[in-house]
Amino acid sequence: MTVCRTSLIDYLNDLLNIYKFNDYCLNGLQLEGRKKISKIVTGVSVCKDLFDAAIKYDADLILVHHGLFWFKQPMCLVGVQQKRVKQLIEADINLAAYHLPLDAHHRVGNNVQLANVLSAKVIGQLDNRIPSIGVVVELPEALTQESLAYILEKKLQRKPAVWGKDDKLIKTIGICTGAAQHDFNFAIELNLDAYITGEVSEFVPHLAKESGVRYFGAGHYATETLGVVALGELLADKFNIEHKFINIENVV
Ligand SMILES: [Zn+2]
Repeated sequence: MTVCRTSLIDYLNDLLNIYKFNDYCLNGLQLEGRKKISKIVTGVSVCKDLFDAAIKYDADLILVHHGLFWFKQPMCLVGVQQKRVKQLIEADINLAAYHLPLDAHHRVGNNVQLANVLSAKVIGQLDNRIPSIGVVVELPEALTQESLAYILEKKLQRKPAVWGKDDKLIKTIGICTGAAQHDFNFAIELNLDAYITGEVSEFVPHLAKESGVRYFGAGHYATETLGVVALGELLADKFNIEHKFINIENVV
């Protein structure tokens, strides 16, 4: 089947509530290509490897979590950025990106999807942003630090970095995927047993030790593959179109 680009993008913008988020990148259609869409490729981040794979698959739309345009980076189309844009224009492929709206979504969001992977139940919001991004979850049964690390490694195919003392079982966890090191403080304020994000910062080992809240750095890429895959599957189902997730390995 085929769906018109405008309908599909309108559906995504609405589903993910993009206008409610105060993000530091553009959400939605970032680069316009062909009008009709029957094949989509999803990936975590824009890069040449992803674009090559999408072109080989003859995709009409590339859907990513980390797109091309970030407010902190230069806006000029020079160097790598020019090459990336040129490749997509020449291939007439659409590019759409959803950042915070995809982290936060209650069904396909990265945070809720990671909770699902752990068979955990969402019991609240982690932060006080509007809309909030992270979630608080409860495990079906309490786990040791080692068991939780093992499950994360098995499910995400990457060994997490863990800080904190394995002195009590873990039942409540704060989750905010990607580079949400500072949101560790929300988990501490809420007196949760542990916190899971993607990346790790220098301050983390001390804060974990002194707060007694365990910190799992499960990988920025690894924790953010889940949302975009769920979103791609939802679109394939809804519009009866083809979807393929392209895994471009990234150890960070
Ligand atoms: Zn991210």
